[in-house]
Amino acid sequence: MRPREIEEKLFMTHTKLPVSVEFFPPKTPEGAQKLRATRQTLYALKPEFCSVTFGAGGSTQQGTFATVSEILAEGFAAASHFSCIGATKATVRTQLQTLQAMGVKRLVALRGDLPSGYGAGGEFHYASDLVAFIRAETGDAFHIEVAAYPEVHPQARSADDDLKAYVTKVKAGANSAITQYFFNSDAYFRFVDDAYKLGIDVPVVPGIMPITSSTQLMRFSDACGAEIPRWIRLRLQGFGDDTASIKSFGLDVTTDLCDQLRNGGAPGIHFYSMNQAGPTVEICERLQLV
Ligand code: FAD
Repeated sequence: MRPREIEEKLFMTHTKLPVSVEFFPPKTPEGAQKLRATRQTLYALKPEFCSVTFGAGGSTQQGTFATVSEILAEGFAAASHFSCIGATKATVRTQLQTLQAMGVKRLVALRGDLPSGYGAGGEFHYASDLVAFIRAETGDAFHIEVAAYPEVHPQARSADDDLKAYVTKVKAGANSAITQYFFNSDAYFRFVDDAYKLGIDVPVVPGIMPITSSTQLMRFSDACGAEIPRWIRLRLQGFGDDTASIKSFGLDVTTDLCDQLRNGGAPGIHFYSMNQAGPTVEICERLQLV
């Protein structure tokens, strides 16, 4: 390695990265109270924004908007997730007006998944339809994030089709993307390169899922198509019910992943906090991002 490369590497290793944090809307007053405390701890990271998920079919709309409102009142930028499956244009228009009146400037625009048993219906088929609609209705009022899938969306016809679908939704007016979580940084870097070759250069921020529970991680990963490498799966299985070892191993794995992403030029890190402060803060401290 040339001295210049070593210097660059050292510089990259200590580069601060913008961090964003994701929450889900609490279902009970106790959950809301706990989330307020979690947010206060996470605000020490000076997140670029905090986002709040949105149940498909608008099922959590009230809780999502209430949590977004609290974050704004606490003096931090908030992004509302916004899913369109099963929705009508009239409902989406009203919700967009509500968000604008609340002072929200950032949306994570999604298709969403309807729970099984619900007929899709609605006037939107894909996230790209929603992005185009938001732009047509509100111009540049919102910074629009979309979802990206370095390991391919589970319902995609092919990896190529999925990449083209990503290109379409960015061209419909998205400003940046947040990825589904993954544990293999090559998948992320390849996705970014492939999108770039198709003329898409908006920032793609990797979504990071801290590992705190094996069963929860396996369940989520089966549902969303995120691959857990065999060695991670086996190590987690080997820990059995030893939660302290699971958490300690999980912190090592996700911190290394974030470091690889930072060194490779990722533009930021988005943490799926699962409404917990501890793992996200610990990873950021280890990376000296705080
Ligand atoms: P799309 O981009 O519309 O893609 C969905 C599928 O359709 C893909 O397989 C794609 O390849 C295919 N496709 C797209 N366009 C076309 C086309 N023109 N022709 C044929 N096929 C096409 N879910 C929630 O319910 N609430 C949330 O708050 C939430 N937040 C999320 C945040 C992030 C960062 C991520 C990564 C996911 C989130 N999800 C959330 C999950 C998401 O809703 C699901 O993954 C959903 O199945 C797809 O949503 P999408 O916006 O990526 O869909």
